[in-house]
Amino acid sequence: MFIYKSNDTLGWIGDLYGYPVHQSYVGFICEIDHVHNYSDTVTLPTCTEQGYTTHVCSCGGSYVDSYVSALGHNWNDGVITIEPTESSEGVKTFTCTRCGVTKTEAIPVVVSTHFPGDINGDGKVNSKDLTRLLKYLSGENVEVVADALDVNGDGKLNSKDLTRLLKYLSGGDVAIY
Ligand SMILES: [Zn+2]
Ligand SMILES: [Zn+2]
Repeated sequence: MFIYKSNDTLGWIGDLYGYPVHQSYVGFICEIDHVHNYSDTVTLPTCTEQGYTTHVCSCGGSYVDSYVSALGHNWNDGVITIEPTESSEGVKTFTCTRCGVTKTEAIPVVVSTHFPGDINGDGKVNSKDLTRLLKYLSGENVEVVADALDVNGDGKLNSKDLTRLLKYLSGGDVAIY
C-alpha cells in the first residue's frame, strides 16, 4: 500500500489497490511517511495530442498536470495533385509541415471557355470571325481564340472550318462545335 504525507497539497494523490485516492481521504488511509520528491517529465504537445507534465516520486506516487493544448496541424499552401478538367474535379493536397499528415480538397471543374466560331473572342459569331479565321488560315499573324478555331469539331484546322462558318453565318442548317 502506498503511504502518503497527510498534508500533501495535491488533490488527487495516487492509487490504493488500483483505486484513485483523493487527498480528503488521506487522513484515514495513510500514515505520514515521507515528503514526495517528484521528478518531472514533460511530454510536448503534438498537432493532435495535448502536452502535459508527469510528476513521479520514487515511492510510485505520481500525478499529471500542466496541460498544454494540442497545436493543430500547420498546413502548407497545398499542391495540385490532380488537375481539374472540364469534365472532372481536380484534387489539391495539403501537407502538415510539422507531422506530415495530408488532407485533400476538391478543385471545381474548369468552366469551359470553348466558344466555337468566336474566333476573335468578342462574344459574338459573325462575319468578323470569318475574316479573322480566313486571315489565320492564310498564315497571317492575327490573334485568335484557340478553342474557337475548330468550327466543325473534326479535330483539324483547315478550310473546312472556314466553309462551315460561312454556311453557319449564311443561315445554313449546319452546327458549329
Ligand atoms: Zn513519494
Ligand atoms: Zn500536423
